[in-house]
Order: sequence, then C-alpha cells, then structure tokens
Amino acid sequence: MSPRSMPVLLVAVLAVLCTASVTAFHTPSSPSAPSIWGAKRGAASAAALTRRHQAAADGEAVENVLSPKQERRRIIQSPNFHRQGFKAESEGVESQMVSEFTSQLINEMKDSTYTFQKGDLTIKLAKSFGFCWGVERAVAMAYEARAHFPEQRIHITNEIIHNPGVNERLADMNIDFLPVDEGKKQFEHIEKDDVVILPAFGATIQEMQLLDKKGVQIVDTTCPWVAKVWTAVEKHRKLESTSVIHGKWNHEETIATASFADVYIIVKDIHEAEYVCNYIVNGGDKAEFMEKFKNAVSEGFDPDVDLEKVGLANQTTMYKRETRAIGKLFEKTMMHKYGPAEVKNHYAEFDTICDATQERQDAITDLMEEKLDFILIVGGFDSSNTAHLKEIPHMQHIPSFHIDRAERISADGSIEHREIDGSIVKTANFLPDGPLTIGVTSGASTPDAYLQEAIERLFLLRTLKGQEAPQKDTVNA
Ligand code: SF4
Repeated sequence: MSPRSMPVLLVAVLAVLCTASVTAFHTPSSPSAPSIWGAKRGAASAAALTRRHQAAADGEAVENVLSPKQERRRIIQSPNFHRQGFKAESEGVESQMVSEFTSQLINEMKDSTYTFQKGDLTIKLAKSFGFCWGVERAVAMAYEARAHFPEQRIHITNEIIHNPGVNERLADMNIDFLPVDEGKKQFEHIEKDDVVILPAFGATIQEMQLLDKKGVQIVDTTCPWVAKVWTAVEKHRKLESTSVIHGKWNHEETIATASFADVYIIVKDIHEAEYVCNYIVNGGDKAEFMEKFKNAVSEGFDPDVDLEKVGLANQTTMYKRETRAIGKLFEKTMMHKYGPAEVKNHYAEFDTICDATQERQDAITDLMEEKLDFILIVGGFDSSNTAHLKEIPHMQHIPSFHIDRAERISADGSIEHREIDGSIVKTANFLPDGPLTIGVTSGASTPDAYLQEAIERLFLLRTLKGQEAPQKDTVNA
C-alpha cells in the first residue's frame, strides 16, 4: 500500500461524516431552518447565549452568522484551497520521501522479530512507532506543493510537524516559516498569489479567514483526525454545551480546536479535570478557578454558568487513557449532579481518539514487558505525542531517554535528553559496559531514518569504547 492510499480512504470516510454533521446545521441561505445561534437556552445559560450572539453584534441577523465550522466549509470551496495534495507531483514525491525518510535497518527489523543484535547490544523495537499516516500525508503535501508551485513564495504558518529535521528539510526547499513576534505570527509580508501551507495539526479559523481574504493559495495539510475533533466541537455548539478540551492551552492544535468552539475550557490532565468536576458538584472559589484557568477558557467564561452542559474534545496527541478517564469523570459528575436520566442532557462525547497515537502508546507499554536496561525514545522536543511516550516508562520507573536527534548521543559517552518536566539534561556514561538490551521507539512525527541514525550512534559509541565483540550483525528472524 502506498503511503497515501490509506489516508485517501480514511479521508473519504471522515469527509462523509463531516459533511453529515455540517448539513445538520442550517446555512445562511436557509433562514427559516432552525438556528443553533438563535435557539433558546435555560435561564442559567443566558450569559453564555448572549456571548454566542455577540458574533452578530455588527447588526447582522443572528441566523446569518456562520459558525466557525461553516465558515471553514465556505473557505474550502475556494479554487485557491487545496486539501487533497497534487496528483501530478505525488509519484515523484513518494519516491523522494522513501529515499529521505525510510530506513533499511528498521524495515528489516519490522520484517523479522523487531529485534537487532550486534555484539553485546540488543535492540528491541516497539511494534508501533514513527510516522503516522497523518504526518506522512502532511509532509508529502508540502513536498508536492513545492513541486507544484516551483516559482511562488511558499510560507508555512507553523512547523508542519514537530520534528526539527523535517522542518529543516522544508526550510532547505525554500519554504519559509512565518516569523513570530512577541508570540504573534506575522502575516503582513504574505502577498496575494503566495502559497501558504497549514500544518498537520491545523490552523485557527481566524488564520484561515485572514489567508482567504488575502487571496493566497492555501494548502491545507490538517490531519482528518484533527478536523474530526472540530466536528465534535461543532456538535457541542449545536447542543449549547461547553467544550471541555483535554489538551495543552498553548499547543497549536488545541488553539486551533478552541477557535472552533463557542464556549470552552482546556484541562491538561485528570487533576485539572477533577478540580473542575469538584466545582461543578460543590461550587468553590470562583476567583481561584478563574486564576487557575486564566489562559485556558473562552472569553467571558463563567464557571457558575458555563459548566451546566459539557462535551468532551481532545488534542489528538494527548495520553489516550487519560482522555477516556476525563470523559468518564465528567459523565459521572453530571450523573451525580443531575441524576442518571438527565446525564445525556448534560454530557456529550463523540469518538475522537486518534488510533495512531493510541497504538504507539500501547506499543511502548507492551515493549516494557521485555527485560530492558532502558528505552530510547526519538522525537521532537516540542512533540506532544513523543513526550507522552516518555511518560509511560517514567510512570513505571523504567529508565528512558528522549532525544530529538541522533547527535544528542556524544562520542564522550553522554546523552543529552529531555526530562518529563521539559528540561534538557546531560547524562554521562549512559551506555555502561556489558550486555545491554535497549528498547527503542519514536514519535508520530519521526521518520524511520532518524531512528536508525540514533541506533547507529549506540553501536558507534560501543565500538569507540572498544567493547564490541567481533561478531556478525544479526537481525533475529
Ligand atoms: S497523530 Fe493522529 S491526529 Fe495527529 S497527525 Fe497523526 S494520525 Fe493525525
């Protein structure tokens, strides 16, 4: 199967789901259809409803204001909007990506027992790791865009994925990353007829509107799984529920998802979810609540009003078991507060868990069943899904090192790696003498070639230390 064929099938399925969802809402050209904006809400929700109407404050009829999802749908219809890649360029790009990103060693390990042994080092590879199809699709689309628009200036609104090597590769291809000044992206120098790529984790509706107005060519590589979360958020809006987003408030994907919500709160983990649920049941110190979530709620959020009806959404790269646990917690909380018969009117959940993230998390859990000296995790330091892979062995007290590139392993026997708290530290002599069994895996934005380079460094280091026995390489079959 080509790297693109599976995505195309899933994109088609998701497109049908998304279309079904969108057509459930009225369009501006059908003012007599029921309006989610104009619908009446309980008295306790009046403030939130007022905010929902604020979008129409310029005097336009409430019924004629598009929701963010409808607005995206309008923008997508433009002939300047490209979200399926460029067929004529796809074949050349596919072979280019195979040569740049795949690895013979990793392929051989996958074809055998996921084990490689040389001298007294044994490498055990997780059963699921590396590039997910959403990332592979996004990178392929960026390459295709470069080939399709050879003369035009191409910008990207953010790192296409959280991998420094891949982003450097795109920079080499003269794809310009939008400058950021004091936390704000600088769109000013983008001109009509330029090409702008939206990354795999999406862009806010406001950015899409701005680019649409500028008349640029937009290449949208947003993963369909991320768009599926936006559809869930739109459903919350229809239900007049507040979206509870399990994510990091400053992560680009969560910022984009929040832009599709009307009223939202972002919780980063089960502890913050417990705090919110406790407030729902017992009330509490509102000022403290607002201070705690000051960066993580929609404008005008009022915990006394906006937590009456909630729906769950998630950043696709979060720890999936935790997302499920947070969902269960809110469901139980609503059951406790309103009774089992009423729970469906106060809590909504739609399946938005991305399989790729779940599979990689399950695979490192399985890998930990082996007797390992440590686990090496390769992936960008900004990569949320890679950071979660590190958390799993950390919770089980299994030593692990998260590196973003092979060069973090030095000839002096040290390794520079990212800790759970985000700090970068150096550990000396991390590869002690004697037989070692090392588990390896990589995040969803890491090409296999980069994983191979890291493995090669381990063996190089062992050679430098003069510990390697003169044995033949073995891929266990
Ligand atoms: S991790 Fe999932 S949501 Fe994110 S790009 Fe990959 S497939 Fe898409």
